[in-house]
This record gives sequence, structure tokens and C-alpha cells, in this order.
Amino acid sequence: MKPSVLIIYTGGTIGMKTDAETGALVPFDFSGIYEEFPSLKRLQVDIDVMTLPPIDSSNVTPADWAEMACIIRDNYDRHDGFVVLHGTDTMSYSASALSFMLRGLAKPVIFTGSQIPIGVLRTDGRENLITAIEIAGAKRPDGRPEISEVALYFQNRLFRANRTTKRSAEELNAFRSYNYPPLAEVGVNITYNRSAAAPMPDEPFGVDTSLNDRVMVVKLFPGMREELLRRLLSMDDVEGIVLETFGAGNAPTHEWFISAVRDAVAAGRTILNVTQCGDGEVSMELYETGLALQRAGVLCGYDMTTEAAVTKMMYVLGATESRQERAELLRRSLRGEFTR
Ligand code: ASP
Repeated sequence: MKPSVLIIYTGGTIGMKTDAETGALVPFDFSGIYEEFPSLKRLQVDIDVMTLPPIDSSNVTPADWAEMACIIRDNYDRHDGFVVLHGTDTMSYSASALSFMLRGLAKPVIFTGSQIPIGVLRTDGRENLITAIEIAGAKRPDGRPEISEVALYFQNRLFRANRTTKRSAEELNAFRSYNYPPLAEVGVNITYNRSAAAPMPDEPFGVDTSLNDRVMVVKLFPGMREELLRRLLSMDDVEGIVLETFGAGNAPTHEWFISAVRDAVAAGRTILNVTQCGDGEVSMELYETGLALQRAGVLCGYDMTTEAAVTKMMYVLGATESRQERAELLRRSLRGEFTR
């Protein structure tokens, strides 16, 4: 029997084509996918399409992530895999969020999109779409799926979703996973890196949609004023802060800086340290400047991306109100989001 894949179209550049008469960009109707791409029939995959009201991904919210997660839950038993078509701008956030929201995932959920609309001659969307569908339907010789996690496919590489970041607004090769190897590389053949892919889960599939969005990112820069930092760290409706620090997790050691951080922790805020560098990890014991943060109660984000840190923070704050449980969940790699 052919594998069955559900395509969930959410918006973004991939969903546009040039109107033959006016030359303007108009939405592409994915429900007519076989008419547009008759060659898809040769893929040996049954395709169903679900279209959400298309949005530019800059407008995406946790409510949209919950909707995507619920669609996957409601269609989980009927399909072997899922392809989520999404704008590239925030794709790494959405895909990271879904990686936390989908528990015990035993099927592939492949995010993709394009830098050039699918209906434009030079599009990168056609290859991204076709290969994403093929990966979502791919099985190993023993019948289990090749991929059983949320992944992102773009320009010949499949990545673990919560390791990705959009790194170019121009190049077709727009995404990177700096700290984790690709799950598959695509040339003439698709070569899966099975040792990097997530193992089959040992818990049943389930969906958690209760994200808590009382989260903020604070990016440090030299010259940041004390009053500004204090105001940011003490905002009433913020419960979790992703602190983007320098290099291997370093921040100023000035007394006012450390005391502002200590006060925020004492007031119940959860602070997670990630680095502003794309590549490499936070190691808070390496320098006095990192150690001071650790002593002030800041948690280590290791080699997590900001995208993964923000969405994990929302997930963890939504999962429990206990400060200690929040810290425990953040210290653990839940979906392979950091190397440990
Ligand atoms: N602004 C678009 C979006 O993220 C860009 C894209 O799809 O590439 O929705």
C-alpha cells in the first residue's frame, strides 16, 4: 500500500504563483496540486491537502501552532507522515514549537517552504515540496518510518527542526543547523543519517497545546544601561526570559548587572542563557563572567538556538507553575534540542 501524506498549507512565499494574465502574484491552490504538478503521481505517495487561511509567517502566534498540532493529532492515525508548508521567516520557531507540543511522535512532520514562490519559473519550492513529501512517506526496510520527529527540509538538507535557524534573507540555502548534523542529505539519492535521527518514542503520542507566552528575549549589548536592564527584567507579565549572552554564555560582572539578574530570579522569573553566536555552546563554568550568572540562578541553555529556547520556555511555563519543575524541564533535553 502506498504511504499517505497530509500536506498542511499555512501560508508564506511557497504558496504564491504568477497570474498568467496580470503577471501579479496570486495564491496557489494546493488542493489542485496534481493538476499543477502531474509528476507528483509518480511519487508513489497518496497526498491529501488541508489549507489554513494563509498568513505571512511574521504573523504566526502560539494559537496557530496549537491549530497545526491539533490538525496533526486529528489526522494522526490516517496518515503516515505530514508536510507543513510555512513561510520561511519564522519557520524555525513554528517547527521548534511543534517539536515540543507533539509528544511521543512516531511519524515524520516535515516543515518546508521556499524563498521564491512556487508558481515562479525559477522557484526553489518545487524541489523542497516534492522531496519533503517523499521524506514524509519514506520507510525503512523494517517498515518503520525513516524519520519520527519534527524536521525541516530546505535546499537538499533535512534538519532536526529545533536545531535550525533562518540564516539568509537572500540565498536559497536559507537554513542552518549549526550544532547538529543533518538528518538527511539529498543529491541524486536521499541519504539518511540514521544515527542522528530520533529513535522511536517510548511513550504514546499526545499533543500539549497550552503554551504560556509570558516570555521575553533580552539580547545583551555592551553599553546596556542599568535602568533599562532592570526595567526589562522586572516587567510584571513576564515569567520566562531567554537571555542572549556573549560567546560561551558570558555577561558583565558589574555588581548592578548581577544584582538585577538575581532580583529577577528572586521575583520568580525563569532565566535561560543562550549564546548570541550561531555556532557553539554556553558553558557557564568557563569564565568568571558566566559563573556569576550561574550563581545568580540563571539556567544553562547549552547549544540551543534562540528559536528553540523561546518555544521551549513557552512550553515549559505552560506545563507547570512550579519553579523547580520548570528548571528541571529546562535542564533536560526533551526533544534533542541541545547536545548533552
Ligand atoms: N514573509 C514570508 C513568510 O515568512 C517569507 C517566506 O515565506 O519566505 O511568510
